[in-house]
Amino acid sequence: MDSVDAVVVGAGVVGLAIARALALSGREVMVLEACEAFGTETSSRNSEVIHAGIYYPTGSLKATLCVTGKHLLYRYCEARGVPHQRIGKVLVAVDDSELPALAKYEKQGRINGVPLQPLDAAQVRRLEPEVRAVAGLWSASTGIIDSHALMLALLGDAESAGAMLVTRTPVQGIELTDDGMIVRTGGDQPLALHCRMLVNAAGLHAQSLANRLTRTGSGARPRVPPAYFAKGHYFTLAGRTPFKHLVYPMPDHAGLGIHVTLDLAGRCRFGPDVTGWPQAPEYAFEPGLRDKFAQAIRRYWPELPDDALQEGYTGVRPKVSGPTEPAGDFLIEGPAEHGVQGLVNLFGIESPGLTSSLAISWKVADMLGLRRPADLPEGPLGADAACDATSLPAGQAADHARA
Ligand SMILES: Cc1cc2nc3c(=O)[nH]c(=O)nc-3n(C[C@H](O)[C@H](O)[C@H](O)COP(=O)(O)OP(=O)(O)OC[C@H]3O[C@@H](n4cnc5c(N)ncnc54)[C@H](O)[C@@H]3O)c2cc1C
Repeated sequence: MDSVDAVVVGAGVVGLAIARALALSGREVMVLEACEAFGTETSSRNSEVIHAGIYYPTGSLKATLCVTGKHLLYRYCEARGVPHQRIGKVLVAVDDSELPALAKYEKQGRINGVPLQPLDAAQVRRLEPEVRAVAGLWSASTGIIDSHALMLALLGDAESAGAMLVTRTPVQGIELTDDGMIVRTGGDQPLALHCRMLVNAAGLHAQSLANRLTRTGSGARPRVPPAYFAKGHYFTLAGRTPFKHLVYPMPDHAGLGIHVTLDLAGRCRFGPDVTGWPQAPEYAFEPGLRDKFAQAIRRYWPELPDDALQEGYTGVRPKVSGPTEPAGDFLIEGPAEHGVQGLVNLFGIESPGLTSSLAISWKVADMLGLRRPADLPEGPLGADAACDATSLPAGQAADHARA
């Protein structure tokens, strides 16, 4: 039977970042991907926002890995020429009833180490003249990124360090033995591979894969959390966008609220909402959502023209908590949690998983006892001073000082 040091299941942005980290740590790595190409599931159906890390509970993995991951990601993008832009984000309270929530997020953001600048109504108007708000928060370290280019760069690094990506190769079963793991795949050329390390980065299918682990050696099987899927829709804006930055209303109980994101070409889209919790991942665009979107958007952008919203695309959030439960954290479980040497399962890697991908990758390498290469940054994975600036965009800073 063929053997490799490490198998990564799943070639999304998280699996590719992990493959890169393991390969840079000197391991022989094989990435097994069920689809025809890398990054065709959640990693290509998201908002492509580099999140600042404002909302997440103190000390949660989402908070710590997002803030660290953002620093690492900006640095990586600059070093590797991955297209991105520190475009900034305005979080707005549209009426006085939302001011307590705005204050809550300002406090939480600061606890999480996110630089934020409070804005009054006039300052919001100067940043975004068409947005109606009584107050806001400016997040200078929020950005946007070309996620496909990021994945290409991660794959390139992993391959340069000796890793191999094998597509059209769904992992069907993993046998835990007293001497490592045996991975069995389907696909055109089914494989049986022995490895000593295995990272389950199968995204929406991570629980289903973990449920197919069998154990021939001693010890219990790792526990598997329930899997939930929350569908989100995007509408695109036909015509010119009036926005220069990302604009977010107050989060609602289900998500971050129907917000404005811009891509690197300057196109504007709204969403994602949370509509539908399918039993299994599926991407059909639900009919009849236009009015709901228009109503939510007009709360902060009253001038949204009629008929300007066009159906865009959908994405599905891999979740570990259901619709009536509080949002779950990332669940990253290694030998210390489940007792199986060499195995790491990643569950519930929803947003901000793209932002956190590099931080997750080094956390997984640490859990597997791998040493970081000498040229990686020391300390808490390297801070980036530019991320810590609260500054308003050029031209606005002076106005702000006068305000
Ligand atoms: C609507 C939406 C918006 C989001 N917006 C943002 C954002 O703006 N910023 C941000 O930071 N994050 C965002 N996220 C989160 C981010 O997109 C994800 O956290 C990230 O893409 C997860 O990457 P992944 O590699 O874990 O999963 P995936 O990209 O889903 O990759 C998993 C891979 O595993 C493969 N696979 C599955 N089962 C098997 C198997 N048995 N064998 C082999 N291969 C298998 C799949 O084919 C897939 O390619 C968003 C998510 C959603 C749903």
